Amino acid sequence: MELKELMKESGIVGAGGAGFPAYGKLADGADTLLVNGAECEPLLYTDLILLQKEMPMVIAGIKAVLDAANISRALLCVKDHTAKRLKLADGTRLADKIVLKVLPDVYPMGDEISLIYEATGRVVRPGNLPITAGVIVYNVETLYNIAAAVKFSTKVTMKWVTIAGDIPEAIVTRVPIGTPVAALFEKNSITIPEGYVVVDGGPSMGKVIDPERAVVMKTTKALLVLPKNIPAVESMFLDGDKSFARAETACCQCTRCTDMCPRALLGYPLEPHKMVRTAKGAVTVMPEMVISATLCCGCGICETLACCQGISPRAVISQYKGLLAKNKMRYVAKADVEVAPEREWRMVPSERWANVIGVAKFDKVAKFVGEQTDFDSVEIYLRQHIGAPSVTIVADGEEVQRGQKIAESAEGLSLPQYASIAGRVTIEDGVKIRIDKVNNNV
Ligand code: SF4
Ligand code: SF4
Repeated sequence: MELKELMKESGIVGAGGAGFPAYGKLADGADTLLVNGAECEPLLYTDLILLQKEMPMVIAGIKAVLDAANISRALLCVKDHTAKRLKLADGTRLADKIVLKVLPDVYPMGDEISLIYEATGRVVRPGNLPITAGVIVYNVETLYNIAAAVKFSTKVTMKWVTIAGDIPEAIVTRVPIGTPVAALFEKNSITIPEGYVVVDGGPSMGKVIDPERAVVMKTTKALLVLPKNIPAVESMFLDGDKSFARAETACCQCTRCTDMCPRALLGYPLEPHKMVRTAKGAVTVMPEMVISATLCCGCGICETLACCQGISPRAVISQYKGLLAKNKMRYVAKADVEVAPEREWRMVPSERWANVIGVAKFDKVAKFVGEQTDFDSVEIYLRQHIGAPSVTIVADGEEVQRGQKIAESAEGLSLPQYASIAGRVTIEDGVKIRIDKVNNNV
C-alpha cells in the first residue's frame, strides 16, 4: 500500500502516546476509521487546539486513510466538552463519509478498547487487535502528520504539546522533536518550585521525568508541572516491592478494584482482586490468571479510586506485565465477551477523576501560543517508537539541514528519524543524535 510506505518513510508514530509506528496499523479489512480526539487525561488540550487550528488538515489525513484502506466511514471521536468548544453536535457531517461522534465525559475514554465500544458498540476480543473488530484507530495528530506527508512530503520533525499543571497559564505549542524541556520551560518562563515534579504525559498515566535532561519525544503529548503530594504523583513513585507486600497483607478482598475496572466492565477476564490476593505467589499458583495482566490498560482506577486499603492493584499487575513482556507472553481470547450491564452506571465522570487524583484545581483550558522553533540544540533519540530503534546514518561532526534524514529504519517494525533543526551532529552510539545550531544556520 503506497500510503503505508509513505507513513513509514515520513517517520509517523501514533501520536496518542504509546508510540506504535502508525504504518503498522494500516491494513485492509476495516470498515470504520476512528479518530481518537478523546483526550482522555485531565489537563490535556493538545487535540482540542489541533482540531481548532487544523481541522482541514485532519480531515485531509482521514480522507487519505479512507481511500488507501478502502474504509467506508470515519468517526471523529471527541468528548462532550471538546464538542462544545468546537461548537459541533453529535452526528455533524464534517465531510463525505466523515461524521463527528460525541463521547461521554468519562475516564478512561481514550483507551482504544473503550473508545471502540463507545463509538461503535463493538467489543474487541480480549488481547486482539482493533482490526479484528473491523476498526482502525488513529489519534488526531497522527492524521495531521499523515496529511502533511501526503500534501507536502513533510517528515515528522515537530510535536504539538500541552504545557500545564500548577502554572499561571496552560499553553499548547508546536516545537521541534528533541527540544530540551529545560529550554522550552525557560522560553515560556515556567519554573519548577521546590516539591514539584515534571510529568511527560497525562497525570494518570504519564511518567515523572528529569526536566534538566529530558527532551520532547514523538510521544510527548503534555508536560505537566505538578506537586509531589497529590495522589496522581504519589502513585508514580509507588515502589513495586512495597506494593506487593501491602497487597499480600492488607487486601480485604472487597473486589471493588475488579468491580470498577473499565476492562472488566467490558467483559474482559481481568480480575485485579484475585491477582492481589496471592500477589507474588500468583505466578506459580494461578499462572493462567496472571497472563490476563496483559489486558490491563493501566488507567489506575483500581489504585486511586477503588481501593480503600492503599493497595495498588495496578502496580502489582504492572510487575506481571513486565514479566510477561520479557517472556513474549500475552492473553489472546478466541471467543467474544459480554459487556457487564452495570458498566453504564459504574463509569467514572472525568470531573470526579480529576478531583480524585488531585489535579482538578489546575485545570485551565490551554491557549495556543504558536510554533516555537528557536532552540540552540535538540536530541533525537533512536528509540522513540515501539519496535527496533532507528539506525544512525550521519557521521559525528557532520552538518545537517532541517528535515534531513539522520537515521534509517531498522529491520522489522521501525521508523526513520529526521533532523528537527539545522546544525552539527554529535552521535551517542545507539542512543541519540544531538544537533547543535552553528552560527551560519538560519
Ligand atoms: S489499572 Fe486497574 S482498573 Fe485500570 S485496567 Fe488495569 S486493573 Fe483495571
Ligand atoms: S479494592 Fe483493594 S482491598 Fe478491595 S480487593 Fe481490591 S486491592 Fe483488595
